[in-house]
Amino acid sequence: MPLFGRKRVKDQPVEEPEPFRLPEPPAPGPGGMRSVVDHRDYLLSCIEPLPPFGQQILDAVGLTLCEDVVSAISLPRFDNSSMDGYAVRAQDIHLASVASPTSLPVVGEVPAGAPAPHSLSPGTAMKIMTGAMLPEGADTVVPYEATDRGEQDVRIVEALDPGSNVRRVGEDINEGEVVLRAGDRLASRSIGLLAGIGIDKVMVRPRPRVVVISTGDELTEPGFVLQGDQKIYDSNSYMLAAAAKAAGAQVFRVGLVPDDPERLKQVINDQLVRADLILTTGGVSQGDYDIVKQVLPELGATDFTTVAMQPGKPQGFGLIGDDQTPIIMMPGNPVSAFVSFEAFVRPVLRKLAGVDSYLRRPVIATAARGISSIPDKLQFARGVVAEGDNGELIADLASGHGSHLLGGLAGANALLLLGEDTEFVAAGDQVEAWLLLEDG
Ligand code: AMP
Ligand code: MG
Repeated sequence: MPLFGRKRVKDQPVEEPEPFRLPEPPAPGPGGMRSVVDHRDYLLSCIEPLPPFGQQILDAVGLTLCEDVVSAISLPRFDNSSMDGYAVRAQDIHLASVASPTSLPVVGEVPAGAPAPHSLSPGTAMKIMTGAMLPEGADTVVPYEATDRGEQDVRIVEALDPGSNVRRVGEDINEGEVVLRAGDRLASRSIGLLAGIGIDKVMVRPRPRVVVISTGDELTEPGFVLQGDQKIYDSNSYMLAAAAKAAGAQVFRVGLVPDDPERLKQVINDQLVRADLILTTGGVSQGDYDIVKQVLPELGATDFTTVAMQPGKPQGFGLIGDDQTPIIMMPGNPVSAFVSFEAFVRPVLRKLAGVDSYLRRPVIATAARGISSIPDKLQFARGVVAEGDNGELIADLASGHGSHLLGGLAGANALLLLGEDTEFVAAGDQVEAWLLLEDG
C-alpha cells in the first residue's frame, strides 16, 4: 500500500451563510400602496434603541434616561428657614403687633451650613439665615421686615402661625421617591434635580449618529456658483441635517453625491463606520437615473415601496453593511424629503434615542378656508396654525400642494394631515395638524 495513498476525504461543501433579510413588509392597501402608519410601524419594528452608557450629568442634557432614578435623600434634607430673620416659637409672639411689639432676647445665630449653637428655650429668639437649619425648639421664623433687627433683644411686630417661613423636610422630594423615569428626556431642569439629590452620572442612550447624503447630478453646494442653467443648489442635505440636529441627533452632513452608482456605493460604505442611521434623498422613483434604488440592494437588505402619502410617495428603507445599519432613502423634492423626515425619520430617531413616545402629538384646528386633498392618500399640506380670537386654533394653507415649494415650506409652521378618505375640508371644519416645533 503506497504510503500516501490514503483515500481522499471529499471536500465538505462550504455552507453559504443565509443572506440577511428584512422582516416581511406589511401588505399594501387597496390602492396598491402601503399606508403611512404601516410603513412607519414597519420601520420602527426593524430598529432597536441604541445601547445605554454612563454619562456625566452635564453631558446628558437632551439625552434619554434608561433607568428610573430614585432619590437617596429627602429635599429639603432638614427643616430650614426660607427667610433671613429670627427663629422663635409661634406661641411666644402670638400677641405681637405694631402697636404692641413683643420683645425677646436674642440667644444666638444660625448661618446656612452650620448647626444651631443649642436648642431654643421658650421665650427666646435666635438669628437665622435663609437655608439654615431650624434650631430644635423653634417652629417659626420671623423675617427681618417684621422686627427692629435687634442684636441683644429683638422687637417683633407681627404674630405668625406656627410653621411660617419654615421649609419642611421632604416637602419637595422624599427619600426613596422615583424622581425621573426611564424614557424621560433630560432637560436642564432635570440636570439640576439630579445634582440636587447628589447624582453625578446617569445611564442614558447616546445621541443617534446620523449621516446625511443627497444624490443628484444637478446639485451644487451652496456658496458655489451654479455652473450651468440646469444646476440647482442642494437644499435637502442641509435641511435634513438641521432637522436631525434639532431632533437631538449628532449629524454628519456628507452632502452631495452625483448619480454615479460606484461613487454612491463607495460613499455609503465609507460612512457606515460612524452611522447609527443614514439618510439619503433623491434617486428612489422610477427614473433611469434613480441610482439609490439600483445600488442599495447590493449593500444589504432593502425595501423600496410606495406609500399612500402626498408628498413623499416613493420610499426606501434598508439594513445595510456588517452591522445592519438602518438607512432611510427619501425622494428628492425638498418638501417630500421634509415630510418623509417628519413621518418616518423623526419617530425612528426617537426610538434609537430611547424616547418613549415616537410621534408628535397632533392638535385639532379649524380650517380657515376650504382645502382640497388627494383621495386615497394622506396629504401633508403645509399650513399656518394660529390662535383665533377665542383662543381656538385656526389652520390656513401656507402654500400650494406642490412638493417643490421650498418657500411655502419655510413659511409654514405646521403640517395639516388630510386623511386618505378626505377629498375636501370645508372652511370651519376641523383638521389635524402637527405643529413643527423643532424639539417636538
Ligand atoms: P429625484 O427624487 O432624485 O428624482 O428628485 C426629484 C426632484 O427633486 C428633482 O427636481 C430634483 O432636482 C430635486 N432634488 C433632488 N435632490 C435635491 C436636493 N438635494 N436639493 C434640492 N432639490 C433636490
Ligand atoms: Mg435625482
